[in-house]
Amino acid sequence: MSKTQKSIAILLLGPPGSGKGTHGTLLQQHLLLPHISTGDLLREHVQKNTFLGKAAKAFLDKGSLVPDELVSSMLLHRISLPDAQGGYILDGFPRTLPQAESLDREIGASHEIVALYFAVAEEILVERITGRLSCPSCKQPYHRTFAPPKTPLLCDQCQVPLASRKDDTPELLRERLLHYHSDTKPLLAYYHSKDQLFSFSGEGPREIILQKILSHPLLAKISPLSVQ
Ligand code: AMP
Repeated sequence: MSKTQKSIAILLLGPPGSGKGTHGTLLQQHLLLPHISTGDLLREHVQKNTFLGKAAKAFLDKGSLVPDELVSSMLLHRISLPDAQGGYILDGFPRTLPQAESLDREIGASHEIVALYFAVAEEILVERITGRLSCPSCKQPYHRTFAPPKTPLLCDQCQVPLASRKDDTPELLRERLLHYHSDTKPLLAYYHSKDQLFSFSGEGPREIILQKILSHPLLAKISPLSVQ
């Protein structure tokens, strides 16, 4: 990368179950950029019972949003680490306007921002969320019906038992969707007004969605798949 070239920050926007995690993992493999999920980071803090984990746990358990200052400082620290210097994929951040503004203040001048919006009908979200599983070790996502592992409930790569998330219940999904509509959806207009929003249908086969994402001009430039 030349000194004048900006790094890329890919933001995955969409409701819970819209495919941000799945495509974050796929994009990480294709673009060789770290996939940084604030939900994963927060769950790790809760599991390790850190100071931040203790503060965040009640919010995660209720399906509500962790306060902006806590999430923003955790995220800004994460993107300052060496592996993120060539760019990154943010999954689940920003989720509020203050978070988007703090990200802009930090990286607006140094990064090209591409906000990818996964549009998915609400009835599909419920189906996806209630069947989803992932590998606790490599984070590979699965679904009981749509993307089952080769051996029931075991990760294809690590052979460890797959887990489902505590907040992937119909009740907590309802709560998470309320926060999505009130706090996160306004970000679509925010990024649209800055000409940084790329919207597409998040329904259908993941390969087709991935191709669509990689057709974005800035991603096509850095994707080996785009060389045809
Ligand atoms: P996710 O794995 O992205 O679905 O996030 C799981 C939970 O972590 C959310 O329901 C929130 O409680 C919390 N969380 C993750 N990212 C954020 C964020 N950017 N701002 C506030 N809370 C967040």
